Amino acid sequence: MPVDPIRSVLIVGGGTAGWMTAAALAKIFGDQALDIRLVESEQIGTVGVGEATIPQILLFNRMLGIDENEFVRATQGTFKLGIEFVNWRREGHSYIHPFGSYGSDMDGVMFHHFWLHARQRGYEVDLPEFCLQIIAARQGKFLRPVPDARNSPLGHIAYAFQFDASLYAAYLRRYAEGRGVTRTEGRIANTRLDPETGHVQGVQLENGETIEADFFIDCSGFRGLLIEQALKTGYEDWSSWLPCNSALAVPSENTGPPSPYTRATARKAGWQWRIPLQHRTGNGHVYCSDHISDDEAANILLSNLDGPALRDPLQLRFTTGHRKKFWNKNVLAIGLSAGFMEPLESTSIHLIQSGIARLMTLFPDRAFNPVDIDEYNRLTLQEYDYVRDFLVLHYRQTERDDSEFWRYCRNLPLTDHLARKLALYQTNGRVSREKDELFNETSWLAVLDGQGVVPQGHHPLVTGLGDAEVDARLEQILGAVRASARQMPSHADFIANQCAAPADIQLFQA
Ligand SMILES: Cc1cc2nc3c(=O)[nH]c(=O)nc-3n(C[C@H](O)[C@H](O)[C@H](O)COP(=O)(O)OP(=O)(O)OC[C@H]3O[C@@H](n4cnc5c(N)ncnc54)[C@H](O)[C@@H]3O)c2cc1C
Repeated sequence: MPVDPIRSVLIVGGGTAGWMTAAALAKIFGDQALDIRLVESEQIGTVGVGEATIPQILLFNRMLGIDENEFVRATQGTFKLGIEFVNWRREGHSYIHPFGSYGSDMDGVMFHHFWLHARQRGYEVDLPEFCLQIIAARQGKFLRPVPDARNSPLGHIAYAFQFDASLYAAYLRRYAEGRGVTRTEGRIANTRLDPETGHVQGVQLENGETIEADFFIDCSGFRGLLIEQALKTGYEDWSSWLPCNSALAVPSENTGPPSPYTRATARKAGWQWRIPLQHRTGNGHVYCSDHISDDEAANILLSNLDGPALRDPLQLRFTTGHRKKFWNKNVLAIGLSAGFMEPLESTSIHLIQSGIARLMTLFPDRAFNPVDIDEYNRLTLQEYDYVRDFLVLHYRQTERDDSEFWRYCRNLPLTDHLARKLALYQTNGRVSREKDELFNETSWLAVLDGQGVVPQGHHPLVTGLGDAEVDARLEQILGAVRASARQMPSHADFIANQCAAPADIQLFQA
């Protein structure tokens, strides 16, 4: 069958999702005959939060071919080695979910099995001591991986970024417009559907202008202007697994050098984030309004800031879950219009990125073959399912029972996938990763161990090496991690030397 290529794409929305999509399409389609337009409304604005990322964003930046130091400067960015979870297992407890691994695997067996075996023999050093990212984070240090140090932990430093979301969108806008994307300012008032196919034909702005396209990417945020308001796709509500439904966000003044990690502190009916940037600190309180009032949530947020608040808190409401179809007819939802699972593990920007990657693999022609659409929806749902289960683990595996909220969370329902993961770890310390699952074995291990799940056993092969040999290797790894941390500069010095943002960031704004 002859291919009838898509000739025009309209991206609806210019938040992080809209501009990431525009930048990627502009880069990938390059000089091909594809008209890429984006419409956004300054009057409506963007959600304006979304400041912490995970390491996969490096792949997105690499695909765009952007210079990392320039990107960090332009977004007031800092580096992120992981997330510190404070008060999650119990009040007063803290652990870090790092981006790098623990120790090094031996004889094909994951490192932590040797540590578990040593623990049973009375070894006292905690697992986090074997992870360079955790030690460096606690010491406020940062370095990019050193290419010629492959045999040292310094050669394997995994990291992500923390940045100002509005500056990120502005940065990508300059990138996309520079590569031919046309931006239209205006508020969409109506959507026109084809009476026969039900496909979206075009959108009409308040000023009467109509924009038509073959393919529409809905990046309009929670409102889901096309995917929901026009196509009535439906929403799968995940509140029974992820009960938080509100957030208050507020920036505060920096009071010291920015830490190279995000902090998530559990509160009585939710949790509070702290994301340090070069020019300020982003803060927010994510909570369940069934268990706490907005006023009390705001008080908790404002009385737990490192420095003075820079404005009044911004209130956000959401329902965790996702559209019943992420791609429906000729409309693909990317970003908050597709779904939201709360920001505990900074996954939303990654879900935008993976949505774009899947779109590139399954990019349609004007026939919009249902096989491609179904595959996109199947793979996206699978990714959402796995992320949800990882988030649920944080809430459910807690010793906290000091509030109604935490007592509720301790009894959250388990999916088969999560039940299987828990049983595997509890029995013999094994962690497994499904194909295409976002979070790897190290991430699961970090949170399982951090939340206090203790395995009864370990991999049987670890006894083959002999206790003395294992002890010697553990000491050697510990020494290498500590020596590596000593060689790293402070996070603040690294930024000052490589990518300090100019005092007047306006220089960089669109
Ligand atoms: C509390 C909270 C914390 C978060 N923290 C993180 C985090 O740390 N890390 C992370 O990865 N993600 C985080 N996220 C998610 C992240 O903010 C979003 O995934 C990201 O900002 C993408 O948003 P968006 O572009 O889909 O929507 P929005 O930013 O809401 O953009 C929607 C766009 O659509 C336009 N629009 C809407 N209606 C119309 C109309 N009628 N006409 C014209 N234009 C219209 C708007 O003008 C805007 O440009 C967080 C989200 C929340 C709610």
